[in-house]
Amino acid sequence: MQYEAVIGLEVHAQLKTKSKIFCSCSTQFGSKPNRNTCPVCLGMPGVLPVLNREVVTSAIKMGLATNCAIASFCRFARKNYFYPDLPKGYQISQYELPLCEKGDLTINLNGSKKKIIGITRIHMEEDAGKLIHGENLGVPDSSYVDFNRTGVPLIEIVSEPDMRTPEEAREYLLKIKAVLEYLDICDCNMEEGSLRCDANVSLRPAGEEELGTKTELKNMNSFRNVQRAIEFEIKRQASILNDGEKIVQESRLWDVGKNESVPMRTKEEAHDYRYFPDPDLVPIVVNNEWVENIRKDLPELPDNKRKRFVEQYKIPEYDAGVLTSSLPLADYYEKCVKLFPEFKTVSNWIMGDILRMLKTDDKEIADCPVTPKNLTDMLKMIEDKTISGKIAKTVFEEMYVSGQLPMEIVKKKGLVQISDEESILKIIQEVLDKNQAEVEAYRNGKIKLLGFFVGQVMKESRGKANPATVNKMLKEKL
Ligand code: ADP
Ligand code: MG
Ligand code: ZN
Repeated sequence: MQYEAVIGLEVHAQLKTKSKIFCSCSTQFGSKPNRNTCPVCLGMPGVLPVLNREVVTSAIKMGLATNCAIASFCRFARKNYFYPDLPKGYQISQYELPLCEKGDLTINLNGSKKKIIGITRIHMEEDAGKLIHGENLGVPDSSYVDFNRTGVPLIEIVSEPDMRTPEEAREYLLKIKAVLEYLDICDCNMEEGSLRCDANVSLRPAGEEELGTKTELKNMNSFRNVQRAIEFEIKRQASILNDGEKIVQESRLWDVGKNESVPMRTKEEAHDYRYFPDPDLVPIVVNNEWVENIRKDLPELPDNKRKRFVEQYKIPEYDAGVLTSSLPLADYYEKCVKLFPEFKTVSNWIMGDILRMLKTDDKEIADCPVTPKNLTDMLKMIEDKTISGKIAKTVFEEMYVSGQLPMEIVKKKGLVQISDEESILKIIQEVLDKNQAEVEAYRNGKIKLLGFFVGQVMKESRGKANPATVNKMLKEKL
């Protein structure tokens, strides 16, 4: 049977506010356990939460960036459940009246193909604490709880079940990340947990309208794992359906080591959260002026920047998509073309050599040892024929490893291109003398041998001869 996969994502993004959502404790990651706490976030009796306005502003930014309607009236609700990392016994979240609804996000699929994914809602909530299991501390029988994360603000972005492949889910998540980063409201570090994603997956016979039973995948802490976990889940469900059996609606945990998902707390999942409006917090009234002020100050977002790159720099859609996929990368490109306005050349170097090296080292553009100044100084040396394009690759690698100036590397290693005809002529003469038979053949019409001679001359000069000059002079000599 042919199945179609249906995927919807729930993304939790930790907001970059300095203080927590309902108290003034710090949100600093990596502090000593339980240092960033107070009676409010520890859930002591008799305390009252006070909403951090910055949280609402950040959530409205994300809502506007994803074309959501911003509710003029919304409120917080208590989501009741028991777990040791939740000191109050309930999480303050939003339920029937979220802040943002009915938005969308455009994702780009291989090159210029686009797809619009619906955003059901974006709501605000507080994060829970973190359990640290004793095995890691040499006390295997106990667990410890760190409440530093309790009360750190989150937004939850819920998508419509509009994705059909693991790749689309990955692209969606990458786009969410890019928008959050452009808005500067989240660190988006999946390993540290500041960006988390649950994937809902179901199958249905191809062509069918009705949705199948879904499972929810949790605990995927990288983009690659999200894609892998969904791929695994699609295969698992297809094999169950092919055996004539039914999918059990459940949450499943992705096991990174085993590359498979395992069921988790099926029975507990069936519980009722008994949502009700939080009586300690007044409803939030968002007036138009507030929304419009936020809209006015929104930065240029990924889709707009991408479009501008295509128009302003005349680079292909594909290049613009890669270069604007992260804000620091887009900024890097723009710094480079300001210094050296050969738009496509710069794009080629960044998309090729730079991204390749960064990927190998698992580094971000922010940590790139080659600055825009050094990269473009090197490109200028190619342009004024101080070095050849081939030598430039060597210079680039050296710059990347040592962080040295391109000019220093060229001087130190004696890489300056040989363009003067006298020196080149000497090498040509040697090569021709050594390869009499080929010279004969060339003169008898086997002109394809020109490439061979060029290669030999370049080799003799250890790549430093100017290839254009070599070409021209070889033809003359032959
Ligand atoms: P729940 O109540 O289980 O959290 P929701 O209706 O709130 O379910 O949806 C949660 C997420 O699951 C949303 O992103 C939604 O798009 C997605 N979703 C809902 N039904 C399906 C389905 N049948 N297949 C895949 N995804 C689904
Ligand atoms: Mg849900
Ligand atoms: Zn606190």
